[in-house]
Amino acid sequence: MNEEEKLQYISNYIFKDLKLSEADIINKYPKRDLAEGACVTRFAPSPTGFIHIGGIYSALLDERLAHQTGGIFYLRIEDTDKKREVEGTVDMIVKAVNRFGLNIDEGFDINCEQIGNYGPYLQSERKEIYQVFVKKLLLANKAYVCFATQEELENIVQIQTQRKELIGYRKDWAIWRNKTLDEVIENLNLNKSFVIRFKSEGDFNNKIKFIDQVKGEVELPDNELDTVIMKSDGLPTYHFAHAVDDHFMQTTDVIRGDEWLPSIPIHLQLFKALEFNIPRFYHVSPIEKMEDGSRRKLSKRKDPEASVEFYYEQGYPVKAIIEYLMNLASSNYEDWKLQNPDKKIEEFQIDFTNLKSSGSLFDIEKLNFFSREYIAGMSSDGVYNHVLGWAKTYNNKLFDLLFNNKEYSNLIFNIEREGVMKKRKDISKWSDVFNEINYFFDNEFNNIKIDINNINPVSVEDVKMIINEFINTYNNLDELDVWFSKIKLIAKNLGFAESLKEYKNNETNYKGYVADVAKILRLALTGKTQSPDLYQIMKVMGKDRIINRLNNFINLLN
Ligand code: GLU
Repeated sequence: MNEEEKLQYISNYIFKDLKLSEADIINKYPKRDLAEGACVTRFAPSPTGFIHIGGIYSALLDERLAHQTGGIFYLRIEDTDKKREVEGTVDMIVKAVNRFGLNIDEGFDINCEQIGNYGPYLQSERKEIYQVFVKKLLLANKAYVCFATQEELENIVQIQTQRKELIGYRKDWAIWRNKTLDEVIENLNLNKSFVIRFKSEGDFNNKIKFIDQVKGEVELPDNELDTVIMKSDGLPTYHFAHAVDDHFMQTTDVIRGDEWLPSIPIHLQLFKALEFNIPRFYHVSPIEKMEDGSRRKLSKRKDPEASVEFYYEQGYPVKAIIEYLMNLASSNYEDWKLQNPDKKIEEFQIDFTNLKSSGSLFDIEKLNFFSREYIAGMSSDGVYNHVLGWAKTYNNKLFDLLFNNKEYSNLIFNIEREGVMKKRKDISKWSDVFNEINYFFDNEFNNIKIDINNINPVSVEDVKMIINEFINTYNNLDELDVWFSKIKLIAKNLGFAESLKEYKNNETNYKGYVADVAKILRLALTGKTQSPDLYQIMKVMGKDRIINRLNNFINLLN
């Protein structure tokens, strides 16, 4: 055999089962029919059993870029690393993407069935496609078969470390790069395990310039490692699959975490060797956190808020999370929202030429703010249904209360809600709800320990007078102004000022002012010193419950 025949032999041997040809693939993925400027983006998570909030963030950017430009957003599951794969994650990812309302055009439908003409969208099902191009590079001498053992590889690293040299399988260290084809054939015939490596022509001492859409012009040392492109199980590595898929699926814009920025030189080498179109790249900074005065990336291991599960458990409405993430992407989102309270989130245009290039700090208070605002804008029915759905998984007691008292619960949620100017903002997530509404339910209220000291500055005697007088004059049909004027009268008769202003003008003349009197009623009815509007609370609780609780409160003082 001459050298060419030997190479042919090797390639036929390795790819004996490969039926597909390059032409088949080119035919299978025709040019997308899209308008000028329409972007094709993808969310390409690996199914490792964990969905990072940063993943949802970049998926949101992908979805927005595609749909803002009338393009396509697709989901591709990158499951070529079988060792890291966790069963059930594909389903988890598909559900999360749908839950966050990130409309996928291609990839997977809600039942995890694949949809779209550029699939399969599960990389392990694309094995043959990758192999066609691994074979092509092998035959073109741009890749080679490598039988280096784990031990040999470790040995190389050890010596390189001792000599303080650049670590990696490269140049003269790449023991299989220059082996004869006879040696390769010999080892294949011995059935030895092998990988296929890309033959890098790069030199680490050369700098390459690259334009990133977020970071601007970036200079990076070129790649000189002979990266594995096909592993011993026949599957490609991430780098290789990325080049093949983003070319044939016609991704125009790759948005991904900036941990991939150092891999750009190898990616560019692969795209060029394969003569593929190079997409635009956006390397987005991670969401960060402060620790001991310095910033660090939200960590899967240390920070519960890194996982989407945290937000599910806490009960943040996904729309509120999306708003928070929008705000991370564009600092002008909040202003826009203020000016356009009735517009849908999707109507906001993210300026992709101006994405933040440094990391954003995760700010739970800001998330709570967006979430409180969002919940304040919901109908009571909407709140009821959302809380019920959440409680079903995360709080059985709350679920039972709401489920068994639907009408009463709706009235509770409607306090300071529909048709009022000043909306209640006491709920920032569904896990707040139980503590905010439990006092409405007698069994729960009876478990609440009321702090009697909170009657201050009102004396026990006055408390009794206030309550008795209130009971005597209470009429559940009273309008707000009548109800309030009765409380003011009680206040006045007992020596409390009728308003804060009056009290401030002459503090020594009064025992306190009307709010102190109302506070007694609030404490007796809710166990709290602060609550939503007391008049509305009373309307919802009903006369019997009110009288009952007020009387019990007096007993508590005796
Ligand atoms: N599977 C890669 C990851 O999960 C995707 C990176 C990319 O978007 O290219 O990090």
